[in-house]
Amino acid sequence: MYGNNNDFNNKVIRSVLIACVAVVIGFFRSISAIALPPSGTASIGKFWGFGIVIVIIGITYSIMLFTNKVKNKTGVEPEAIAYEIPDFAMKSLDEYQKIDPAFNVADIVNFCSELFMKLQQCRSEKDYSPVRANLTEMYYSSCEQEAQEMEFSNVKCYVESYAIKDIVPRGYFQKAGSDHLVVRVRGTVKDYTINLKSGKLTGGNKEYPKFIVFEWILSRRMGLKTNPPDKVITMSCPNCGAPLNVQGTVKCPYCGSTVAAMESDWKLNSSKIITLRYL
Ligand SMILES: [Zn+2]
Repeated sequence: MYGNNNDFNNKVIRSVLIACVAVVIGFFRSISAIALPPSGTASIGKFWGFGIVIVIIGITYSIMLFTNKVKNKTGVEPEAIAYEIPDFAMKSLDEYQKIDPAFNVADIVNFCSELFMKLQQCRSEKDYSPVRANLTEMYYSSCEQEAQEMEFSNVKCYVESYAIKDIVPRGYFQKAGSDHLVVRVRGTVKDYTINLKSGKLTGGNKEYPKFIVFEWILSRRMGLKTNPPDKVITMSCPNCGAPLNVQGTVKCPYCGSTVAAMESDWKLNSSKIITLRYL
């Protein structure tokens, strides 16, 4: 899930590309040396030599890049970076409060914090049904698909420890009939995946925790508003289905799970890794 393989593939592609570019440059350098011999055979030889040197430097550099990755496996991995949605592409949450007066940043932070912890559990159990009510249908099915692929290839994810550093709702934007909140979630996770058949480590790291920054997008239908904290709403418990009168956040008297009135609202729509660094 954390894209170790992607990073590895990127490196392979980069190495091969650099080698190819080096070969092409070297080749043309040599050709042009033959086509336009400056003077005498001695300098043709020199230009040929120059082309070959470029090829050798290129290939050596690619090999170094490639083997560097093998070294990194036991220690520090480079940061994996994706771009965050820039500030100019969204509006401030103060502005959102004008649309939805009961909107509360602290509620969003609590929601994300609980969801983050539950997701770690779901990942190792390969079952996302406990958080289904908190995910959009699309994101839920992509999680389930990933879980099924892991099940199929006999891989299990072990989440040894996790901690949230901070959760910052950054802003919002509106698109395709929905309101989207952009939330930065930073935390540390120590996890790894094991192939249950071979017992081999297939991803992550057993010794080092990693620092991860996620960009979460929470979405809900445009026009929905947060229930004021003093308003009692009737809903069914997302866990056991029991009918409940919820005011703010309550504990379900039947199954004991925490139910927030807002749980029916915002759903996690996507989760993207912005930074990943082994500590
Ligand atoms: Zn319940």
